[in-house]
Amino acid sequence: MKRAKVGGNLNDLKRRALREVNKQPMEEEGGTLSQEEVRRIIHDLRTHEIELRMQNDELLRTQEKLVEERNQFSDLYDFAPVGYLALDAKGVIQKTNHAGAALLQAFRSTCLGKPFSAYVSRDSVETFFLHLRQTFESDTVQQCEIKLKNRGEGLVYVLVESVCWPQDGNERVCRTALIDLTALKPAEEIRFANERLVLAISDQEAVESQLRRNLSELSLSNDELEQFAYVASHDLREPLRNISTSLSILEKRYKPRLDDDANRLVGYAIQSAATMTALIDDLLQYALSGAAVLQLEEVDCAALLDSIPALLRKTIKETGAVITRGPLPTITADRGQLARVFQNLIHNASKFSGDSPRIHVSARKQDAEWRFAVTDNGRGITPENRESIFALFKRVDQRENSGTGMGLAIAKKFVDRHGGKIWVESEIGEGSTFYFTIPVTVLPRDQ
Ligand code: ADP
Repeated sequence: MKRAKVGGNLNDLKRRALREVNKQPMEEEGGTLSQEEVRRIIHDLRTHEIELRMQNDELLRTQEKLVEERNQFSDLYDFAPVGYLALDAKGVIQKTNHAGAALLQAFRSTCLGKPFSAYVSRDSVETFFLHLRQTFESDTVQQCEIKLKNRGEGLVYVLVESVCWPQDGNERVCRTALIDLTALKPAEEIRFANERLVLAISDQEAVESQLRRNLSELSLSNDELEQFAYVASHDLREPLRNISTSLSILEKRYKPRLDDDANRLVGYAIQSAATMTALIDDLLQYALSGAAVLQLEEVDCAALLDSIPALLRKTIKETGAVITRGPLPTITADRGQLARVFQNLIHNASKFSGDSPRIHVSARKQDAEWRFAVTDNGRGITPENRESIFALFKRVDQRENSGTGMGLAIAKKFVDRHGGKIWVESEIGEGSTFYFTIPVTVLPRDQ
């Protein structure tokens, strides 16, 4: 900004006044002036001249004072530590001091006439325009915090305070102060982050304690369920055995004396009692497997598998299934549970493989686990059923009454207890392969 100088030259003024006087020569109506009159006029003129001179001196002093004050204000404006800007209603910069330009990281000359928003970080532009609108719509000071673009590292945080000012004519401008908050920001952010962290931790603690409560309730209800299943299946076994025995005796002794209809009904009853026995056995097994501690031992899987056909004699005879195997390892596992996994998978493979089931069992070591595969040439399993069949009582076709719907759930539970996984891959009409893994070093869950 140009500094003002005291202007106005007294002699110049005098010269101009003389010029005016000379244009109108002094003439008095009615003749020439007396000496006395001339002396008086000259005296008056001198007095006026002195008066004028004094007034002029006074004016000059006032003007000097004004200029001095204006320069002081200008210094104050230019070198104030806070950024001061004048913006029009569109946010175009009309004026700025050094601190304002420094905060915008621009030269004063280059930022004049440019939109202020060009210096605002993208995520603060909306806040700035809202602030500008509010400032022009009100008479009070408006405030907001925004981020400015920074050519160096990090961001420049500023507090913006604006007030709208009437200007000459109708156009209004707003005076805007920019206060640098950058130095305060990291501390403030750390405080916010800390508060958020404390909140998150207390949330997490609440969730964890709820989880713990749920878990203990779950394990309680699991225990109760297992106990109930055990008691129910155990207690049901005895009367069921009596029913089965009585039905067999009934069939044997009275068959010739009963008509066909009665014999068919006895046959259904015997069949249902057998299904119920299987169901109760499975249920008991399932219930017990959760609580029982794994009996880990060295298990020769080849020998174990060779003993399975004897256990499945009836099914194998009915279906004509042919079982083959590749070389199988000796592993550490619970023999009873491992046998049950193979038995259930081979039983299913025989049941769901049509006329001439071909079943092959193989094993492969993969990293730190053994992966077993039981492959059949059966009907296959649709993709939507490949996971759900491992749930309790889940059958693909509920009309099938040859099983209990528990075989795969039991197999899964036993594999889980060894720390392994079980899944199926299948082609509809081509067959299925059930895979399960047993870690080389068993670290059973819940032991
Ligand atoms: P269950 O055999 O007693 O019905 P599972 O739990 O052993 O019960 O099997 C659940 C269902 O999975 C079976 O009802 C059957 O629909 C399907 N399934 C199991 N194994 C096979 C297989 N090898 N091929 C085709 N479907 C199978």
